[in-house]
Amino acid sequence: MIVLFFLIKGVQIYAPENLGKMDIFVTYGTIAWIGINSDGFSTIPGINIYEAEGLIAFPGIIDGHVHISGGGGEGGFGARTNETTINDFIANGVTTVVGVLGTDSICRSLEMLYAKAKSLEFEGITTYMYTGSYRVPVITLTGDLQKDIVIVDKVIGVGEIAISDHRSSQPSKDELARLCADARIGGILSGKAGITHFHVGDHADGLKPVFQLLQETSIPISQFYPTHINRNAHLFNQALDFINAGGVIDITAGIEPVTFSDDCIPAYKALKWLLDMGVDESNITMTSDGNGSSPSFGPDGKLVENNPIPCNVLFNDLKKAILEMHVPVEKALKTVTSNPARVLKLKSKGHLKAGMDADIVLSDSNFNIKVVFANGKKVYP
Ligand code: ZN
Repeated sequence: MIVLFFLIKGVQIYAPENLGKMDIFVTYGTIAWIGINSDGFSTIPGINIYEAEGLIAFPGIIDGHVHISGGGGEGGFGARTNETTINDFIANGVTTVVGVLGTDSICRSLEMLYAKAKSLEFEGITTYMYTGSYRVPVITLTGDLQKDIVIVDKVIGVGEIAISDHRSSQPSKDELARLCADARIGGILSGKAGITHFHVGDHADGLKPVFQLLQETSIPISQFYPTHINRNAHLFNQALDFINAGGVIDITAGIEPVTFSDDCIPAYKALKWLLDMGVDESNITMTSDGNGSSPSFGPDGKLVENNPIPCNVLFNDLKKAILEMHVPVEKALKTVTSNPARVLKLKSKGHLKAGMDADIVLSDSNFNIKVVFANGKKVYP
């Protein structure tokens, strides 16, 4: 049930920028006011007041890459991963999620993804999805990529399209150019992001197909949104060039050398290193790849191991960036709040500010989550 009015008092706000200690007044699911003297609101009959002395408030996290309806199957049917549950998100401060399909677009469908996005929304969080899957030509809901973006409420772009990966359809430059152009025009017509979200694999080409599109088409760099760039050192270096050209890259959480590959860079370290190299944090986002499979293949291309990725890796790595790598709180938070909101054009998300959706996380100073509000509704605990 939505509490019509409530007040959070005396909370240290990271909006994600540091606003200091303030009060937050919420009405009908929207942040109505943030300021330092809320006495006038305290007297509203029936108002709920949360005394939040000693707590931190930050925007609900946006996880922009989750296999919400399950994924995998890359080692045969036994390797399929489960659907997500609402608790995968709210217990980890995530109030907005973007669903992706992944490798399997035969036994998994966009219809399933759409239904799952709708069902998570019913349970209280905000959801979106990408149309398409790894495959090119792209699979769609309506038979037309552009139409999916314009007509289907949840669809904000196309992805994750696999490139430089043995599981990719090995699309030609022309196929990719057409796909990205279609997505962009869908975005222009509908006011959505219309971006192409690239799954970049381990092949040495890395971001080469994206650089090729940049050189040979007039599609702006803001339409290309590559992920998994911390999966190996070579790709990480290419990502620096992409950022220097004005692009935004996505780091995948939960990657560790022991379970992934020797030269992968854990997300919390990747973030720290990029900032140390002088990269503007506005060009970085971080996502979980939750409920995807994380298969490892031997030199012969055979599957060795398949470890489903839990959704909590995003918040865990965010915490590690702040508490262990000493990344400034506001810079770390931007990568999962205001940056994805900007990149994905989610206009009422990612900020604690009057007029924005009341997606608010309250935690202690060690980022142990205490309360989560999504659209003004207390969803956790
Ligand atoms: Zn992927």
